[in-house]
Amino acid sequence: MTAPFAAILVAAGSSRRMGDDKLWTDFWGRPTWRWGLDVLLASPGLVKVAITVPADAIERFREALPPTGAERCLVVAGGEVRADSVIAGIWALTRAGHDDETLVLVHDAARPAVTPELVALVVNAVAAGGERAVVPVIPLVDSLKRVRGGRVVAPVEREDVVAAQTPQAAPLGALRAAIEEAHAWGRPITDDAGALAAAGVPVHTVPGDPGNRKLTLSGDLAPMRAVLAERVVALGAPHGVDGGRVGIGFDAHRLMEGRPMRLGGLTWNDEPRGPLGHSDGDAALHALTDALLSAARLRDIGAHFSAGTTPEGADSAQLLERAVSLLAEHGWRPLNVDLVVAVARPVIAERRDELAARIADLLAISATAVSIKGTTSDGLGFAGQEGVAAWAVAAVERTA
Ligand code: MG
Repeated sequence: MTAPFAAILVAAGSSRRMGDDKLWTDFWGRPTWRWGLDVLLASPGLVKVAITVPADAIERFREALPPTGAERCLVVAGGEVRADSVIAGIWALTRAGHDDETLVLVHDAARPAVTPELVALVVNAVAAGGERAVVPVIPLVDSLKRVRGGRVVAPVEREDVVAAQTPQAAPLGALRAAIEEAHAWGRPITDDAGALAAAGVPVHTVPGDPGNRKLTLSGDLAPMRAVLAERVVALGAPHGVDGGRVGIGFDAHRLMEGRPMRLGGLTWNDEPRGPLGHSDGDAALHALTDALLSAARLRDIGAHFSAGTTPEGADSAQLLERAVSLLAEHGWRPLNVDLVVAVARPVIAERRDELAARIADLLAISATAVSIKGTTSDGLGFAGQEGVAAWAVAAVERTA
């Protein structure tokens, strides 16, 4: 169980050290700052996140919020320096109803490779009790020297120093008091842990993550791209990129006396009429097969299962299973599907659960990911008397 917490994502800094705007650098379809935000939103316990941004960029950030989780995001204007942005985030959280006891994580948006594991480690450490702050640190590998005027004047014991990362965490009230105290005394604030330690709050360390690097120089981009490449699948790609897609399918068949009624992968024994077709004429499964193939950009049912290559009376359930295999070969799997069947008889609702279970079985997904409903089209038109029509929508996702 992770304790509830709020977060401040500091995205207000201008990128003086990198020439262009490092927070908007694209990594695999997502800007730098979105990577850290998406990890926070995916972390158990995250209640609200204040994103502090340049005052003239609030709309730009708002428009790029993820489609799910945006209701937990507050985009607010930050300040000239980091501490002012943290204070702006604190006030935004306070206005949203968070009191001084709220645990707050502060994370630099320029560290896009933060992991959910590190977030959980920091949250658990700050929630462990008492007024305390937590900072993730990593040991330094290079030897350190104190220099003056281009000359080494003293070595620095490597064992005594560590590199501090974010997210850092503290109770909201303690963090605000520490930053305000530093302001009052005119002390420079490099990070939150520094301000908290100076204010007398015990600051505990947890092991940081060497991959959780801060983008500072343009030479950092290529290694960061490599680190984030491994996360693309784990997090799910954003809209418009290759992570998820939907497809639509439609099919209709004429109903004839004496033909077996096949619909939705089931046989309906009491029906006097059944669909006419080269295969068993299962309009629902044909529509679904088309929707899946279409979602994966694998053309349509006719391209793979033509009358020439498919035996007469072929079981459409087998065609659907072959389509699912074809998707798998191309790195796709079904996520969820929705069907509408327009037919006067049989009554879909009478076997709805059985239909959902059968289709789920064919697609190797949960029955809760299958929705199917019938309509009679009020007796009107083709689907009212002469035939059966079906529409399907399928969502697919990448398998790897
Ligand atoms: Mg058909």
